[in-house]
Amino acid sequence: MSGKRIPYGYQLKDGIIEADEETGQMVQEIFETYSRGIPVARLKDHIQGLKLHRTKISDILRDIRYLGDENIPKIIEKDLFEAVQQRRKERLKEIGKEKSYLYHKDTFMLGDKIKCGECGSDYHCYKHGSTQIWDCSRRLVKGRVTCRNQRIQEEQIINLLTKVIKKLKKQPALIRKVTIESRKNNSRIKAVEREIEMMKNSQNYAVDDLLRLIYKKASLQYELSDDGSVEYYTKKIEKLIQQRKNEETTEPDTDLLDAIIKNIVIYQDGRVQFILKNGAIVEEKEGERYE
Ligand SMILES: [Zn+2]
Repeated sequence: MSGKRIPYGYQLKDGIIEADEETGQMVQEIFETYSRGIPVARLKDHIQGLKLHRTKISDILRDIRYLGDENIPKIIEKDLFEAVQQRRKERLKEIGKEKSYLYHKDTFMLGDKIKCGECGSDYHCYKHGSTQIWDCSRRLVKGRVTCRNQRIQEEQIINLLTKVIKKLKKQPALIRKVTIESRKNNSRIKAVEREIEMMKNSQNYAVDDLLRLIYKKASLQYELSDDGSVEYYTKKIEKLIQQRKNEETTEPDTDLLDAIIKNIVIYQDGRVQFILKNGAIVEEKEGERYE
């Protein structure tokens, strides 16, 4: 029996495995107590002298060898063993439920709109007491920290949103102005512009190459310019904001937010970008005073 450990509850006597009186009794008590609904972590409070680690206890509870066979005597009756397996299944389900209860996107009106500006993943919400906190869904992957973006309270996001709506009401030109800027700031166009600039400065370049870049820039601009949808959304947003111009913003208008906000992007440095449906970006910084 080299290397093979004898299961807890047994002992080896003259080359034969037999039940150990003391630990065998312990195994019996672990199964019985657990089948009565006591969770693994609480078994110690109910079984005198139980000093096993909870992972060890979990292993014991699913060890089929306790049912016995020709090589090893039975310690646990089949009925009890099966009752315990049933209880383990239920317990796993309960834990699964607790987990899905933790993340509930649907409870927030902008649930599927919040994105991580650092890794691009969705943000998830969980409850901490009565506070709802949003966190990058890739913060922990298989127990490892993979994204260090900030956690943000739902209340803070709502405050910033209210601020954005107020701002748009006061300066509706932002809806249009930011659109142009966001297009001008497009990184792909900027990269091509840099290439053109470098080529022009390099003295000797092939005209064809320069023309190719100029064509590339033009087609990118065309691609990003109006296919109709930008103008459509711009007008729609302007209209919605105009309609509510004289309404006092006290609490968030769900319909309005849903109609005008495409995404909310959270950054580690505290910036929160509100991307409107027309591509315009209104940026706010968390922690700035709300006027
Ligand atoms: Zn992230």
